[in-house]
Amino acid sequence: MGQLQNQVALVTGGSRGIGRAIVSALAREGAKVAFVYRGNVEAAQTLETEIAQQGGIAKAYQGDVSDPATAERIVEAVVAEWGRVDILVNNAGIIRDKLFLQMEAEDWNTVLQTNLGGAFAFCKAVARQMAFKQRSGRIINISSVAAEHVNPGQTNYAASKGALNSFTRALAVELARRNVLVNAVAPGFIETDMSQAVRSLAGEDNLKKWIPVRRLGQPEDVAAVVLFLAGPGAAYITGQVITVDGGLSLGA
Ligand code: NDP
Repeated sequence: MGQLQNQVALVTGGSRGIGRAIVSALAREGAKVAFVYRGNVEAAQTLETEIAQQGGIAKAYQGDVSDPATAERIVEAVVAEWGRVDILVNNAGIIRDKLFLQMEAEDWNTVLQTNLGGAFAFCKAVARQMAFKQRSGRIINISSVAAEHVNPGQTNYAASKGALNSFTRALAVELARRNVLVNAVAPGFIETDMSQAVRSLAGEDNLKKWIPVRRLGQPEDVAAVVLFLAGPGAAYITGQVITVDGGLSLGA
């Protein structure tokens, strides 16, 4: 029997990349998994089918996390369907890289509203359910090493992830007494569509030289840590940002 049997998880940005690996990992451990995707219906349906074929349960919900109405609507639907939300993973995120002098307010607002605003809205939508109705819950925010180790062209992205780390710590303090634990995972270079442009530009062999373990991360490397933070072994961990980057941020 999986360690998350009878639990309900909700993952934003679950149809591709890191989110997809998180959905699969949670479902393999027995959780019923609702996941949010923005536009790629085919990827979402393929994942639902794949998980059903493996004997798991996953259900896709279309919605844009940057729209403040999305979170309430989807959390209500998940609670109506499965009665609770034990695990929330705020994974949906985007980049709009531009040097600051070229960056428009729209690039700034869209990234902040998706990466930070989306996490705020989903936390807000599950907080009462977890803190008062269930008196238990786990929230895991997917941050980035770019919050602390900044790259040119990412003022918007770095600001969104840095704020997400601070938000994680502040929310952890407020919800701890209600048995709701809030943590973040900060990945380094992970092989997904999001990192494709950087990988092509810099060259994978060059990137690997900056990473002490000499390989790019896989979505499953991040999913394994999310699974740990969602499970019984992490019952005494809250307000932490766990780096998963093969040593990249050590700067060696
Ligand atoms: P991808 O671009 O590969 O996948 C993004 C996923 O998020 C897709 O499922 C996409 O849905 C969904 N999504 C994007 N925007 C929205 C939105 N507004 N509303 C709802 N869903 C949305 O990204 P990654 O898997 O690489 O990244 C996942 C998270 O990990 C992000 O928060 C990212 O910042 C973080 N991260 C990634 C790193 C990397 O190297 N890849 C490094 C550090 C952090 P759809 O398919 O429908 O578009």
